[in-house]
Amino acid sequence: MTDTSTITSDIIIVGGGIAGLAMAARLAHRTAFTITVLDSDRAPGPVDETLQLRTTSLNSAALDLLKDAGVMAHLPTRFLTDFDRLEAGSREAPEALSFSAADIDLDRFGVFVENDRLRHALWQTLEAQPRVTLISEARLSSLQRHDDHVDGLLDDGRALTTRLIIGADGARSQARHLGGISSQQRDYAQEAMIINVRLTESPGHTTWQIFTPSGPVALLPLHDRQASLIWYDSPGQVQKRMSMSDDALRAAIAEAFPARLGSVEAILERGRFPIRRLHAQRYAGKRLVLIGDAAHVIHPMAGQGVNLGLADVVALTEALEQESDPGAGHALSRYQRRQWPRNAAMLAGVEQLHHLFTLPFAPLRHLAERGLKSADRMAPVKRFMMSLATGQPMTSGKGCKDHDTQP
Ligand SMILES: Cc1cc2nc3c(=O)[nH]c(=O)nc-3n(C[C@H](O)[C@H](O)[C@H](O)COP(=O)(O)OP(=O)(O)OC[C@H]3O[C@@H](n4cnc5c(N)ncnc54)[C@H](O)[C@@H]3O)c2cc1C
Repeated sequence: MTDTSTITSDIIIVGGGIAGLAMAARLAHRTAFTITVLDSDRAPGPVDETLQLRTTSLNSAALDLLKDAGVMAHLPTRFLTDFDRLEAGSREAPEALSFSAADIDLDRFGVFVENDRLRHALWQTLEAQPRVTLISEARLSSLQRHDDHVDGLLDDGRALTTRLIIGADGARSQARHLGGISSQQRDYAQEAMIINVRLTESPGHTTWQIFTPSGPVALLPLHDRQASLIWYDSPGQVQKRMSMSDDALRAAIAEAFPARLGSVEAILERGRFPIRRLHAQRYAGKRLVLIGDAAHVIHPMAGQGVNLGLADVVALTEALEQESDPGAGHALSRYQRRQWPRNAAMLAGVEQLHHLFTLPFAPLRHLAERGLKSADRMAPVKRFMMSLATGQPMTSGKGCKDHDTQP
């Protein structure tokens, strides 16, 4: 039988990924609005002790948000792995860029956590919030935006009515599409292969990345001698490695990754993800606003997708918390004015790092590496890397010119 009830809330968040759920948690904590989260997928279930495929780095700003919203109570610390050192370079100069949290008087830059564990912790936090309604297996299909409210329909025929739609529905955002917001996109013709492994020795607390002509290889250290390896390459090469036996893949890793990885005891899981860059031309429209990957998708080599999405959450909450009407145009514009240029600078900075280390000719790469080591050139790159690690905006934009045009 078709459900004829109308879903009604002050704010409807479309998409219950990490950004959408964190948005609901922050709004529930800081405002009096009623909130509904719709997600087309099933509700996240409890996660057992097994390492999950996807892992995310959370910087200190993201951790502060999660603590403030009460999410950390549902995230046991044994599943969080601190990282206090970042290194990036090429085979010839593996530590061309290296930063320690101690350099800026921090104990750590952030933590690594499995996406599913974080999403489940967010979901549990929201289940205890009386002003939040969580609806899973519900896909947004249409919207009609009026001056003072928005009507919409789900795929299953249910109707919705609200004063603000927050599009948090990821890179292929239907909310962005229905809001008539175009985007600049770039397909890198690369995929990220994630290989979760158990090592014979603990990987420690350093995350490193080595740039090679076919793409970077990276290590994210995890708990219990586990690590997530990220291997960027063409879709054809990734497909080949996806179908290798565990022994053959172990041998391929030993050949491609630097010796510092140590010995891989077991391959635990593998998966592949396309790599793209996307930036919405604007984030705000009539009674509709975008956050997270719906607004911007960044190359994952910088490990910043979730962190940027959570920075959107903080900025949008600040823009809305003094408002009686959550869809007020001036509040949405304020959010856009704050976040769009910051995200554009991050996207451009990561793009420049990508170019710097993947220049087509080896002699150019050597020049880039030598350039990085000289103190004057190091300063803007270092500032940029530090802002990635801490989640603080750059104090000067000198290091990364903006490719996009501000709306
Ligand atoms: C290989 C790889 C490694 C990465 N590593 C890192 C890292 O270390 N650190 C980091 O910060 N980021 C990392 N990222 C990026 C990060 O994973 C993403 O930026 C982040 O998951 C985006 O979260 P989101 O909530 O905005 O979108 P999503 O996770 O895409 O969530 C969107 C949600 O919307 C739902 N949805 C979609 N369409 C509809 C609809 N029509 N109606 C209702 N619901 C809908 C989906 O079911 C989904 O739950 C990585 C990405 C990749 C590919």
